[in-house]
Parts: sequence; C-alpha cells; structure tokens
Amino acid sequence: MKETPREQTAMSPKQESPIRRKPRWLTRRLPSAPEYEQVRSLISKGRLHTVCEEAKCPNQFECFSRRTATFLILGSRCTRNCRFCNVAHGPTGPPDPEEPRRVAEAAERMGLRYVVVTSVTRDDLPDGGAGLFAETITEIRRRVPGALVEVLIPDFGGDATALRTVLKAHPNVLNHNIETVPRLYPTVRPKAIYERSLELLRRSAAAFPEIPTKSGIMLGLGETEAEIHDTLEDLRTAGCRFLTIGQYLQPSRDHLPVERFIPPEEFNAWREKALALGFTEAASGPFVRSSYHAKDLYQASGL
Ligand code: SF4
Repeated sequence: MKETPREQTAMSPKQESPIRRKPRWLTRRLPSAPEYEQVRSLISKGRLHTVCEEAKCPNQFECFSRRTATFLILGSRCTRNCRFCNVAHGPTGPPDPEEPRRVAEAAERMGLRYVVVTSVTRDDLPDGGAGLFAETITEIRRRVPGALVEVLIPDFGGDATALRTVLKAHPNVLNHNIETVPRLYPTVRPKAIYERSLELLRRSAAAFPEIPTKSGIMLGLGETEAEIHDTLEDLRTAGCRFLTIGQYLQPSRDHLPVERFIPPEEFNAWREKALALGFTEAASGPFVRSSYHAKDLYQASGL
C-alpha cells in the first residue's frame, strides 16, 4: 500500500469524515532513539524526501530508529489525488538530476544494504520519471556496492517503455501496489485503473522474470473477503511473488474514513491464505506497509 501525498484533496468540506478512534492493537509506545534524529538530519541535509515523513507513516519512528527509510524521489508533490493518500498534491517542479547522487550518498551514510526508493506519481513527465528511477538505482549501486535496491513505482500511465527503462536498471525487486480491490478504485484511486496496475506487474514478470515483483493492498476501506481473495488471485495470475497487506489508516478528516479495523488474527489468516495461493513471501499485519521491513521480507524469501 502506498504510504500515503498530503494537503488539498478535491473533497468538499461536506465530505469530511471524523477520524475513528483506533483499537488497542493500533496504539503503541516506542522508546526514544538517537538514530531517529540522525536519520532525520541526514535526510534534511541531503535535501531529500521520504515517503515515511510525507505520508506520515505510523512506522516512521520505528524505521528511522532502525536506520532505515524509504526515499521519495521526483519531488514531494503528486500529480494525482488519491483519497487515501497523505502525500501533497499540487504543482510539481522539474526532476532534479542531482537527486540520484544525493539519495545514494544518504544510503551510504545510513549504512543501508537494502535501499527502497519510491516516487510521487508524475503524470506531467513524458517518461513518468522512469529515467530518474533508473539513474537512482545505478547511482546507489555505484556508491554502495552490493546494496540491494527495491523500487516502488507508479503505474507510468501504462507506458510499457517507461517500465522497461526501470527494469533495465535491474532493481532487485519491482514493487507496484494494487492498493485496493477493483470495485473501490473509483472511490479510492479515481485516476488509477485496476487492470493497468495488474498489466504492469504482468509485463514486468514476463519481460524480466529474474526480477521478483511485489504488490500491496490496504484493508479497512469496505472491501469484502471475497474481493480480497479475488484480488490476491489476480496478483498471483499476474506473476506477483511478494505481497504486503496492511490496515488503512485515515490521515485526516479530508481522507476516506476507515470502514473497519481488522484484528491481527485476520491479518495472520490472510498471510496464510496468500502463501497458500503461491506467493513466495507475504507480510500481513496492522502496521505493515509496502516498505515495512522490506529487507526482511526479501531475505525470508530465500532469493
Ligand atoms: S514502513 Fe516504509 S514508509 Fe513507513 S516508515 Fe518504514 S520505511 Fe518509511
């Protein structure tokens, strides 16, 4: 699931939804850690963005304290306006050709051996930002020899050439989130197309089978059990090998309300079902996000 762009959504004040109180399994206290501030400082000095901060990910403290983060390239404003997502929507600037180098330097300073890179959606760019993804992969490899790189990419508007540009840089994992079940796309991801996202995964698995594909889905938006099951089957049919399943959390009153908080036992059951469907590895839990413990998921797969 995408770790949610912030700011103005297209919803009118009438569509504001009060934020529901979280159940006990979604509240936790974490000890302070000096690494948290160190990572924040590295990100800020590198003039970088992370989806962790932009999306107000609930795992930010934990991940930064473990000296890990997910880099957000191509700016901090998204050209789409998904109703679940907290990343800012609005005017975007030109891609920064120096960004790949700065990401690689930060990864090196943080001592990362597994680097996750994502971006805002850039429908305004001819290649959707694919070229900068490829350059970032190459630069990380150059600067941090032996580092594994996972990219969490947008759908590039269905542009197969853009996808190929990224794949030719040989990321270790190609991640693209399906986010929700097809029935909810018009509400949750109005500018995205369920079939187009599946097609991206299918194309990737067919053209570069050595690069495992990964996807993620949020639960709690009103989907039914049968719909979740069908979506997991669709992902498997598209050749998807890694899966993440997490709880949707409403970032603000302007975002879609949580329809249901799924208890941890149900998340465990979904992991079992995913493995039974043939996913190589799956992470499922209330705090799981597509990049949450991404290195562990990859390593657990034995690849
Ligand atoms: S789960 Fe991913 S987005 Fe959230 S804080 Fe961790 S690395 Fe960042």
